[in-house]
Amino acid sequence: MMTTIGFIGLGTMGGPMAANLVKAGYEVQGFDLIDEARQKATDSGVHVASSATAAAEGASVLITMLPKGEHVRQALLGEDSPLSVLPPGSIVIDSSTIDVPTTRDLHERGGSLGLKILDAPVSGGLAGAEAGTLTFMIGGESETVDEVRELFTTMGSRIVQAGGPGSGQVAKAANQMVFGSSLVALSEAFTFAERLGLSPEKLFDVLSTSSGDCWALHNFCPLPGLVEGSAADHDYAPKFAASLLAKDLGLAATAADSAGVELVVGLGAKSKLDELSVNSGHLDSSAVITTVGVK
Ligand code: NAD
Repeated sequence: MMTTIGFIGLGTMGGPMAANLVKAGYEVQGFDLIDEARQKATDSGVHVASSATAAAEGASVLITMLPKGEHVRQALLGEDSPLSVLPPGSIVIDSSTIDVPTTRDLHERGGSLGLKILDAPVSGGLAGAEAGTLTFMIGGESETVDEVRELFTTMGSRIVQAGGPGSGQVAKAANQMVFGSSLVALSEAFTFAERLGLSPEKLFDVLSTSSGDCWALHNFCPLPGLVEGSAADHDYAPKFAASLLAKDLGLAATAADSAGVELVVGLGAKSKLDELSVNSGHLDSSAVITTVGVK
C-alpha cells in the first residue's frame, strides 16, 4: 500500500523535500500558513490541505519542517493537535532545527499517544533539499528509523543515527556551534592579519595548508576574492543567513546550559552573530567579519 505522508511547513526546505517525496511516488498531504508556499507545493504535486490536522488525516507518517521550537509547540503540542488524528503506531519526523527541551516534550507527548517520534534535523541547505542530498541527524528508536529509511534516502543521502530521543538536535546544535565559532575565528584572524600588513591572499594560502584549515574557510570564506563563488564575492547574498546561524548558536547555548557546560568560544561567536543579525540578519553568515575589529 502506498504510504500517505502529512507534511507541515512547506518553506525553503520543506517545499523541495515534499516535492522529492512526490517525485518518488508518495502521496503527500501538505500544509503551510503562507499562500506562496502552498501554491509552490501545489505546483510540485503536493495535495495542499486546509489545516495541519487535515494534512495529518489518513497519513501514517507526519513530517514537520518548521522554523523554531515555538512553531513546533504551536503546530504539534497545542490543543487540536494533528498528532491526535494519527493512528497509534504512526511515525512523526520533526526535521526542524529546534531546542532540546521542545524536542523532548514532543517525544513525550507522542509517546503518550502511542506514536513513534524521531527528531531528524538536517544539514545541506536549500541545494541539498532540492537535490535530495541532505544529511539527517536522527534521535529516536533505531527500529523506527528502519521503518522510514526509504523516506530519508529519498530526501537525503546520509543518515546519521545519533542516538536516543533528542540526540539529533544535540548533534545539530554541536555542529552549528563549531561552524559559527570557526567563522568568527576566521574573521578575527583575517582582520588582525590585514591590519598588521599580511595580505588576505597570503593568510588564505597559509591557513588552507596548515593546522588552521577548516570547512568554513573553503565554503564560507569571509573575504571576497579568495574562494570562487563565495557569498563574500556576491555582497554576502545568503547561502546560510546570519539570522539562522544566530538562532542555532542560541540553541547550542541553551543545550550547553542545560548540561551545565560553560561555553567560552561558542558564546563569543553567538554574540557576534547576534550583533550582525540586529540589522543584517538576511546577509550570509560570513558577513560576520563586518562586526569584527572594533576593540
Ligand atoms: P522557512 O521559514 O523558509 O520555512 C518554514 C515554513 O514553516 C514557513 O513557510 C512557515 O509559513 C511555515 N510555518 C510556520 N509555522 C507553521 C504552522 N504552525 N503550520 C504550518 N506551517 C507553518 O524555514 P526553512 O529555511 O525551511 O527552515 C526550516 C528549518 O530547517 C529551520 O529550523 C531551519 O533552521 C532548518 N534548516 C534550514 C536550512 C536552510 O538553509 N534554510 C538548512 C538546514 C536546516
